[in-house]
Amino acid sequence: MTERYAVIGHPVSHSKSPWIHAEFARQTGQHLSYGRIEAPLDGFEAAVDTFRQSGGRGLNVTLPFKEAAYRYSDELSERARGAGAVNTLAFRGTVFGDNTDGVGLLRDIEGNLGVRLMDKSVLLVGAGGAAQGVLGALMDAGVRELVLANRTVAKAEALAARFAGARASSFSALDRAFDLVINATSAGLAGEPLALPPSIWRPDTLAYDMVYGRDTPFLAAARLAGARACDGLGMLVEQAAESFFIWRGVRPVTADVLARLRAG
Ligand code: NAP
Repeated sequence: MTERYAVIGHPVSHSKSPWIHAEFARQTGQHLSYGRIEAPLDGFEAAVDTFRQSGGRGLNVTLPFKEAAYRYSDELSERARGAGAVNTLAFRGTVFGDNTDGVGLLRDIEGNLGVRLMDKSVLLVGAGGAAQGVLGALMDAGVRELVLANRTVAKAEALAARFAGARASSFSALDRAFDLVINATSAGLAGEPLALPPSIWRPDTLAYDMVYGRDTPFLAAARLAGARACDGLGMLVEQAAESFFIWRGVRPVTADVLARLRAG
């Protein structure tokens, strides 16, 4: 029987995950279907219950349900526990919750973009679910310094306090350049600029926006300063590949899928 998977969120109509997982399944010869579930904002648990009862085997979880998925899980991976958020659920009798955002970001930056994180200075902008999901992985990759800046500084302080070596900052207190600047805010989705000072950029800075499929004001500002600018499409594909591996035990090759998504 074809095993069923889906992405659950609100909204999910824009999601590229069904296409990506269909490509992974084709490439690896796995028989599965992958759909979309748009759950009401107050209906995450009920929607997951229904999907499980009808034989669903796993879910990708996106905005705004990653913390609800964390609470829904019976068992958590180390990285999900560290993040306090779950983006992958596997139904194996019990409910296993994992978070593949951090490994997805690392594989894109180190593998696809060729930038080693060891000893780098990193500015992570944002303190929501996405920042939460990648902070542990960045620290584990051996970065020299990690500054966490958020519009609401108290949220950056609370998140940084959970990771030894991370330091919180306001946007306006940032006064020097970083090797890597990661935008983990949703500002780019609305085309909103971030009030980041130009001193954060050097010509050899990598600017990485987790938002994908559009040229955000963040990436435009980085390019204007001469920095290298990349969107989050590679992270999307890499986190999906890790979810696929959790569910199916087979690791798909991502390069061709990413190239075809980029080509539109
Ligand atoms: P979230 O939990 O809602 O957090 C939103 C964050 O954005 C908060 O830090 C918020 O700051 C900040 N923000 C929003 N508008 C802003 C503005 N105009 N100026 C400054 N800061 C602003 O969302 P999330 O789950 O962290 O997701 C963030 C983004 O990452 C989304 O766009 C999502 O699509 C993307 N993402 C991409 C991938 C991928 O695979 N490429 C994976 C995960 C997430 P305050 O705290 O001050 O409100």
